[in-house]
Amino acid sequence: MNASLRRLWRQFVLVLCCLAAAGAAHAQSGYTQTRYPIVLVHGLFGFDSLLGVDYFYGVPDALRQGGAKVYVAQVSAANSTEVRGEQLLAQVKTILALTGASKVNLIGHSHGGPTIRYVAGVAPQLVASATSVAGVNRGSRVADIVRGVAPAGSVSEAVANAAATALVGMINLLSGGTGLPQMPTAALDSLTTAGAAKFNQSFPQGLPSGCGSGPELVNGVRYYSWTGTRTATNLLDPTDAFLVPLGWVFGEANDGLVSACSSRLGTHLGDYSQNHLDEVNQMVGLRDWFSADPVALYRQHANRLQKAGL
Ligand code: CA
Repeated sequence: MNASLRRLWRQFVLVLCCLAAAGAAHAQSGYTQTRYPIVLVHGLFGFDSLLGVDYFYGVPDALRQGGAKVYVAQVSAANSTEVRGEQLLAQVKTILALTGASKVNLIGHSHGGPTIRYVAGVAPQLVASATSVAGVNRGSRVADIVRGVAPAGSVSEAVANAAATALVGMINLLSGGTGLPQMPTAALDSLTTAGAAKFNQSFPQGLPSGCGSGPELVNGVRYYSWTGTRTATNLLDPTDAFLVPLGWVFGEANDGLVSACSSRLGTHLGDYSQNHLDEVNQMVGLRDWFSADPVALYRQHANRLQKAGL
């Protein structure tokens, strides 16, 4: 090796070492290093990753870089809360076996809110915390209207079901096909106000009586929630065009699919200038750039869990 090649090689090694040290320093910062693994749970028509794009866009990596162990659950894109909950419970048990941890921190978005509440309700000994981000905890007026337009047994229900099944099929195909059972009408029933009220009779843990905070600690599980309360947040994001008109049906603060009051669970951590997709930093980071960074909220929450010994 001649002198100039040796010099180049030394510079290359030096750059690699610097990069490795910077990466290690970032990971060792420990800001998001929770005691128990964090499990992220998607909502209706959700997925773990679609064509390589995370549902919780940029969130798993940001949490891992600060030291957290992060798992992204994959449950049925459209099914009842109970069916999704049983799938999640099985995945939680697998994660505990893999990591040797005794509990997990669950964070669920949208229908993921009731889904994690199911697991925290039936297996509280396996759950350190349950955090609902825009959880459909008291149902959604949008689901009520869709159910009203397509009452059980009608032709319009069949059409709505076919369209929803096609959408779910596409998501499964693009995300690698999970083979999980899909039943869009069961999902819809779970997400109506009446369906949520029925579920809440069996799983009241953490729910407030009004629109404020509920009890934070129930059966050893800490409950938290936050949500968005805006619909139009970024002119460049085409999904705003769907969420803005959906938001009109509420007549109260909402994010386009879930009202602020429906989202409440345990300690209420805040209402943000985010719509239902901004809450998971979609699409691909297009959100209100003059308000709280959605990814930063997940990082701050991991740090909150760490400080609580979770
Ligand atoms: Ca957005």
